[in-house]
Amino acid sequence: MSTVPTLTLNNGVVIPQLGFGVYQVDPAETKDATLAALEVGYRHIDTAEMYGNEAGVGEAIRASGIDRSEIFVTSKLNNGFHRRDDALKAFDGTLDELKSDYVDLFLIHWPLPTTDVDYVETWKALEEIAATGRAKAIGVSNFQPAHLQRLLDETGTVPAVNQIEVHPYLVNDEVRAFGEQHGIVTEAWSPIAQGKVLDDPTLTEIAERVGKSTAQVTLRWHVQRGDVIFPKSVTRKRVEENFDLFDFELTDADVTAITALDKGERTGPDPDTFDYIPS
Ligand code: NAD
Repeated sequence: MSTVPTLTLNNGVVIPQLGFGVYQVDPAETKDATLAALEVGYRHIDTAEMYGNEAGVGEAIRASGIDRSEIFVTSKLNNGFHRRDDALKAFDGTLDELKSDYVDLFLIHWPLPTTDVDYVETWKALEEIAATGRAKAIGVSNFQPAHLQRLLDETGTVPAVNQIEVHPYLVNDEVRAFGEQHGIVTEAWSPIAQGKVLDDPTLTEIAERVGKSTAQVTLRWHVQRGDVIFPKSVTRKRVEENFDLFDFELTDADVTAITALDKGERTGPDPDTFDYIPS
């Protein structure tokens, strides 16, 4: 079984660099999909209240027979719960769904900078949650440098991670560099751009040379750049393939060539304008 490297977050919490993401996994399928990932060897699951499938993640963990302490679980505060009291209640709801008394990492899912609730208030609520020990680490998602700067200036806790869209067509190096400068680990969501990069000729050439798939080459590129990833698939063969990243290495020239594929192309919303609040 591959050995997944770990990173140490700015508060000492250790996170596996490779996990399993469950965005768009049907709630009814989430238990089985997560159990399959745990069988393959994944010990890090990325869910969110917005995905509606935290309960399935919790069921899989309990059914796996693996000690809870050996699995790193992340969840995220949904949009619409950004006021302090709402955030505290929503967090309780996340623990109820997971049937766990803690999460390893809890994130503000989106900053919603154009709405009337200030994410600084939300971040202070997460600080309160962290102080209870029920979130071992707290962080943010989809925060731009200006949003992060406000947290640094106006609160006492530096986010442990910033989970942002990163893949070869959106390398997002400005946001990553800000994180690196301030001890914030970057987590790269949609690491293979939901499949959009997989026929790229540069990736295909490298994949043929190293004897791996273009998905594996792309995921390995993330690993060598030092980001945390959690590709999503409900197909067992792909779940195994995405875990098999640690018996080969890309050259510096390969990493540079893949980074040069950047075209600023998002698969998801722009964090500066995204204001969706579920009804
Ligand atoms: P992804 O880049 O992981 O791509 C997933 C899709 O690619 C799957 O639907 C599957 O069809 C295909 N795929 C996966 N492995 C493959 C392989 N080996 N070969 C061929 N095709 C393959 O996209 P994602 O699911 O959007 O992102 C991964 C995770 O990131 C999510 O599950 C979620 O946990 C997280 N995420 C977070 C945010 C956020 O706002 N914080 C947004 C999107 C995703």
